[in-house]
Order: sequence, then structure tokens, then C-alpha cells
Amino acid sequence: GYLLMIADTTRAALAQAKRAEFVAHVSHELKSPLNTLGMCVETLRAPVDDNLVDPEEDAGFRLEAVNIIGDEVERLAALISNLLNITQIEMGNMEPDRTRVRLSDLLEDVFTSTKRSATDNTLTFELDVPSKMPAVLIDKDLMRIALNNLVTNAIKYSNPEGTIRVSAEESDEAISISVKDSGIGISAEEQVSIFNKFYRSENQEARARGGQGLGLSLAQEIVQMHHGAIRVESVPNEGSTFTIDLWKNAEIVQQAI
Ligand code: ADP
Repeated sequence: GYLLMIADTTRAALAQAKRAEFVAHVSHELKSPLNTLGMCVETLRAPVDDNLVDPEEDAGFRLEAVNIIGDEVERLAALISNLLNITQIEMGNMEPDRTRVRLSDLLEDVFTSTKRSATDNTLTFELDVPSKMPAVLIDKDLMRIALNNLVTNAIKYSNPEGTIRVSAEESDEAISISVKDSGIGISAEEQVSIFNKFYRSENQEARARGGQGLGLSLAQEIVQMHHGAIRVESVPNEGSTFTIDLWKNAEIVQQAI
């Protein structure tokens, strides 16, 4: 007799293609800062020839190279930490460690630390979180990463003299946290793609601000681990609002502290 086996391998093939695409992206993202680091090392290694270069100018080049190395190392560290978090979540290795958290404390914490990191001192920061919000059962460290990514983006994609507002409100169904900016905004076509891993805008203005396209994808994974949802409303040249909804019926929210 014969045994005929038919198996649908579409899913496996797709998963493999996705993995290959992921590895290609990661390699590319790691390669460009490494090239820059290599060039800086060459600059620092070059012997000083006082007959050819003005020593003061040479010291300037060297200092610039050291600063670029510092920036690239910071970028690489952020990329690797995002990648590790995403991979762990996707492999199912990361169980959220939920504790009762006072949302106002967490938001104030994220708000203060990201505000401090902003280099543009023309920006205005507003925090509007009612102190009477109920406690939420969340993984504080993970949620901090998600919120941090949203506020950092709001700063990065702002225009000078812009306003960044972090707020929270409670409705019958959800506790909602919003991060609003008055920056460059996102077109309607792009709004559907920005949560995809490695997606970066085609828009020149957005591209000029650097990034790796992982921040929103990680934020979304973290929010989904909490059975919540993340959404965006945005108008080009007016600004964007990212909102995280933590559904009350997902046992996330309990009585007030
Ligand atoms: P990136 O590291 O590129 O900022 P993200 O995943 O955080 O990666 O964001 C993906 C893309 O979404 C960005 O490249 C940018 O085009 C767009 N984006 C995210 N947040 C904002 C924002 N607040 N304002 C305008 N565009 C944004």
C-alpha cells in the first residue's frame, strides 16, 4: 500500500523567511555603527605629524572621534537591549512580573528621567496624571521601557518650541496613558506600519533624526503582554498622540490604593 502525507509547510516557510529577514536587519544595524567606530579608531591611531597638521586642529579631530565613539556605543547598547527584550518576549521566555503599581509614580518617574535627557531646551513638558488613579497590576520594569520609548520618540520627533504632554485618565473600560507631541506627525499611510519591527519612515525629516525602528514594536509587545492595546492618532506637521489602553476587565486594574 501507499501512505500519502500532505503537510502544509506555509507557516514554517514563512517563519523561516521572517527569521532570515530579522537576521539580515540586525546584521545591517550592527554593521553601520561598527564601520563608524572603525573609522574613528583609525583617526585616533594615526600618528601626529606636527609638520603636516596644526596640533590644535589635530586635538579637535581626536576629541570629535572620541565623542562619536561615545554616541555610537550608546546607540549600540540601546539597539542590543531592545533586541534582547524583543527576542525574549517573542520566545515566550519573559513572563511579566506583575506587582501593584501606582501609575502616577511610574509616569512621574519616566517623565522626569526622559525630560532630563532632552537636549533641546526650548521644549515644554507637561504631566497631567490625577493622583487618585487606581493602582494597576503591571510589570513595572517592562512598562517603563514601553513608556520610555514613547516619550523618547515624542522628544525626538518634536520641533523646536514644541510641547510634550504625558497624561492618564480612567474610563469605565480602561486606564489610558497618552503621550502627545506637537512634532512632525505621521502620515495616515505610515500609521499602519510604524509598529512593525524595523519599520522606519520614508519621510526625510523623520529619517534625519536617526533610529532603528524597534522602539514602537517593543512597546506594542509589552502592552500586549499586559492584554492592553496601543494606538496612534497623528496629523503630519501637527503632531502625534500615542495611547496605551489597559483594559480593566483584563484584571489589570484593582481597587484604589
Ligand atoms: P525609531 O527608532 O525609528 O524611532 P520606532 O519603532 O520608535 O523606531 O518608530 C518607528 C517610526 O515611527 C519612526 O521611524 C518614525 O518614523 C515614526 N514615529 C514614531 N514615533 C513618532 C512620533 N512621536 N512622531 C513622529 N513619528 C514617529
